[in-house]
Amino acid sequence: MKQTPTFNPARALKLDEIGQWDIETDVAIVGFGGAGSCAAIEAAKAGASVHVFEAFSAAGGSTALSGGEVYLGGSGGTAVQKKLGFADSTANLFNYLMMQHAPQGDEAKIRAYAEGAAKHFDWLVAQGVPFKESFLDERVVEPMTDDCLIYSGNEKAWPEVDHCKPVPRGHAVQLEGMGAGAVLMQHLEQAALAAGAHAYYDCRALCLIVDDEGEVVGLVVRQDGREMAVRARAGVVLCAGGFVMNEDMVRRYAPKLLRGNYPIGNPGDTGAGIQMGLSVGGVAVNMHEGFFTLPFYPPSTLTYGIIVNDKGQRFINEDAYHGRVGTDIIAQNSERFYFIVDVDAYGSYEELNFINADVVATGDSVEELERELGLPEQTLVETLTSYNRFAEKGEDPLFHKQPEWLRPLTSPLVALDVTPGRGAYYSYFTLGGLDTLPGGEVLRTDGSIVPGLYAAGRTAAGVPRRGRGYNSGISVGDATFSGRQAGIAATERARRDR
Ligand SMILES: Cc1cc2nc3c(=O)[nH]c(=O)nc-3n(C[C@H](O)[C@H](O)[C@H](O)COP(=O)(O)OP(=O)(O)OC[C@H]3O[C@@H](n4cnc5c(N)ncnc54)[C@H](O)[C@@H]3O)c2cc1C
Repeated sequence: MKQTPTFNPARALKLDEIGQWDIETDVAIVGFGGAGSCAAIEAAKAGASVHVFEAFSAAGGSTALSGGEVYLGGSGGTAVQKKLGFADSTANLFNYLMMQHAPQGDEAKIRAYAEGAAKHFDWLVAQGVPFKESFLDERVVEPMTDDCLIYSGNEKAWPEVDHCKPVPRGHAVQLEGMGAGAVLMQHLEQAALAAGAHAYYDCRALCLIVDDEGEVVGLVVRQDGREMAVRARAGVVLCAGGFVMNEDMVRRYAPKLLRGNYPIGNPGDTGAGIQMGLSVGGVAVNMHEGFFTLPFYPPSTLTYGIIVNDKGQRFINEDAYHGRVGTDIIAQNSERFYFIVDVDAYGSYEELNFINADVVATGDSVEELERELGLPEQTLVETLTSYNRFAEKGEDPLFHKQPEWLRPLTSPLVALDVTPGRGAYYSYFTLGGLDTLPGGEVLRTDGSIVPGLYAAGRTAAGVPRRGRGYNSGISVGDATFSGRQAGIAATERARRDR
């Protein structure tokens, strides 16, 4: 390699800046996480030579840190859904995902996902990923048992419940306890290596290499302090995760996420993959969006409570998915937020909770609680009087919380402070990335393709596009699914060009 000043993912090198190729391959993959491993498996199985470059010492990325929940269904149901008697049509899954991600959902990607999700489940099983044939009928972020199927989004909440048949689609990889993403990645890494992919660990991708026509022909990687030029005959697949760990990028593109206190991801989520795509004319979309959550259940009993703003008013059905609740909290014009619960619910909260919200007031009556919270007179009183009157009849005419979660809130009452920035746990990650076709081809602003460049997982703007419409399992589902599509598309290009 010729001497170059500095390497920067935001600046691609020209072919004439490269002296010689150090590594040659058909498909070069940046990042050995969920998307990268699946791209590698498909490309290697289709006969391409595949090299995967991973910045850290092991494969995994955020996928290995995840709960290992995968959002799947359609085609009559996955094998597990069918076995447990949950029929799920492709149209039902498509309509649900469109509803979740409108108006910015990518219809072509959602359609491909809805049509392919049940088969994707079979494919994961074929890679050795274990799923138990069991259903956990509890409101949990992820199973703490080794169970598989859960309702992991807004399927049973309003307004979705009025438009789409509720079906549980969160498929958790089998592991007793939380964090089954590690098991998922163990199998995907092994499958990629067994298929013949060459893995380079502690090997960071620094920038892309383009020819005079703007085609991506390779990349520069660094291992043990040595830069190497990698020629990728068919293409480079960017699977480098999102940008949640790059505070400057989050501040620039999605500043609202900084109201959370826990960016979740791995240290490699620096946005380098997105910057590489931009450096060769790719366009990034949906960059303002993110998953932003207050994971308030378990205990599910908190769902019987109400969430109010600094005007003592409700603004959401509390049986909505925790990510929607978090997202709607930061969308409010309000300085403070409280979860109001009765002593029963508070008892279970004390036993187990993930949000660590402080008790800021208690009251033997609503009036007392209202005073202690410093809310405008009669606001909370009116909210609770009306809420209780309808809850008694199993109704919530304002926000349509479903009857199973409606019961009058009786004193004594407890208020938990869930104001962002005051200690309660709010986590977030990014949902913006490179604009791609369903096959992973990276697009320019004018809709043309950047030849030789693909992106998948959180480096691309995929199926999950909205914090309000996020469901547990859709990011790992999308990352693994889109990684496969990109691996297949790059290999087809290799075949065409041979
Ligand atoms: C704690 C936690 C729990 C979660 N639980 C779930 C869940 O249960 N279900 C769900 O759907 N989503 C979940 N998510 C989100 C989900 O895990 C991620 O959004 C998704 O796995 C991202 O997959 P990916 O393939 O795009 O990226 P990753 O799996 O993060 O892979 C990207 C890889 O690229 C590497 N990389 C980055 N830059 C470079 C570079 N320049 N050169 C070489 N390598 C590079 C990284 O080191 C990493 O290994 C969770 C996230 C966290 C943090």
